[in-house]
Amino acid sequence: MTADTSRRWHPDTALVHGGTLRSPFGETSEALFLTQGYVYESAEQAEARFLNLEPGYQYSRFSNPTVTMFEERMALMEGAEVARATATGMAAVTAAMLSQLSAGDHVVAAKALFGSCRYIVEDLCPRFGIACTLVDGRDLAAWKAAVRPQTKVFFLESPTNPTLEVVDIEAVAEIAHAAGARLVVDNVFATPIWQKPLTLGADVVVYSATKHIDGQGRCLGGVVLCSKEFLDKHLQVFIRQTGPSLSPFNAWVLLKGLETLSLRVERQTTSAGAVAAALKTHPLVTRVIYPGDPDHPQADIIARQMARGSTMVAFEVAGCKAAAFATANALEIIRISNNLGDAKSLITHPTTTTHQRLTEDARQELGINPGLLRLSVGLEYPDDLVADLTQALDRAAARIAAE
Ligand SMILES: *Cc1c(COP(=O)(O)O)cnc(C)c1O
Repeated sequence: MTADTSRRWHPDTALVHGGTLRSPFGETSEALFLTQGYVYESAEQAEARFLNLEPGYQYSRFSNPTVTMFEERMALMEGAEVARATATGMAAVTAAMLSQLSAGDHVVAAKALFGSCRYIVEDLCPRFGIACTLVDGRDLAAWKAAVRPQTKVFFLESPTNPTLEVVDIEAVAEIAHAAGARLVVDNVFATPIWQKPLTLGADVVVYSATKHIDGQGRCLGGVVLCSKEFLDKHLQVFIRQTGPSLSPFNAWVLLKGLETLSLRVERQTTSAGAVAAALKTHPLVTRVIYPGDPDHPQADIIARQMARGSTMVAFEVAGCKAAAFATANALEIIRISNNLGDAKSLITHPTTTTHQRLTEDARQELGINPGLLRLSVGLEYPDDLVADLTQALDRAAARIAAE
């Protein structure tokens, strides 16, 4: 198959066949190449490979056939020119940012970021002379006002963790480009199935493949998607020389994950919609945030930039932390975990776990209240999830009333 034909496939077909490299044995399933290095036919061939005069592999820190298959499949699905895989989502974020930044540069980032992403822009970058301004991602005037002559990168995620607010990616991309900066989007919460930031003007997209791409709780991984130009100019040399490479074994697991990604995300999104609707009817629940809801405060932006909602639902219970803990503890199917995107439904109390590091003020600013719970909806039968949440909320309400 040629790359040109595969570029015309629907993403669902690319998820199954994209990037497949068959060995002479003609295996059906992708081969797992657990090798550190490669041998050459001759010293001349080794020289040619190092001079980039002939294609081929040199060392698995730079490239490996199983990892190449995963990268090509991701690029086809996302509609990106190229992809580079990394050991974790955070390695992808770090490489996407640091590969293009130098001392003296300036970054503008949305405040509502995954905790470790916020560390990269707020703590790590300034240590190396890269200034950073955090803005409310929903406020386009704030993005504009934050621009300096040294601004090189805009960074955001949408929907955000954990309050599922959205940022108008197209509008922010326009502001970035007018300032001569690039826009990097962390697309984990939207999933590649429902949102394509590159078509909205983003320059670089990053994923934690740990989440929906594996989706079955097995291994960590990450990926950066970008243009060939960005790869050649910035990313390739950074990854090659600093070594955040993805293990071929994990690339193989992630390839198998991609085969079922769209099925899983569709089912989990449909179930999330059903769960959000049911949560709204419970008296202990004071607020439900679901990007698939017509009454989401930014439904107009969601309709423009996302094909459907998300597999994530956030909700607040009356009675603050005690009620949130009582609810989480009473669940029988849904497990307590800070992970997300898994086949198993998982619930998180952001105030005391993922966002514990932030100050109370910073949490307030982001709308992270002690009664807030973040739910990642899995592949269980949706009625069972609704029944589990209902009985847990009933028991929490009874406990709160008794106290
Ligand atoms: C999990 C996550 C990351 C980090 O990914 P790891 O694979 O855990 O390193 C980054 N951004 C978002 C939005 C995430 O959910």
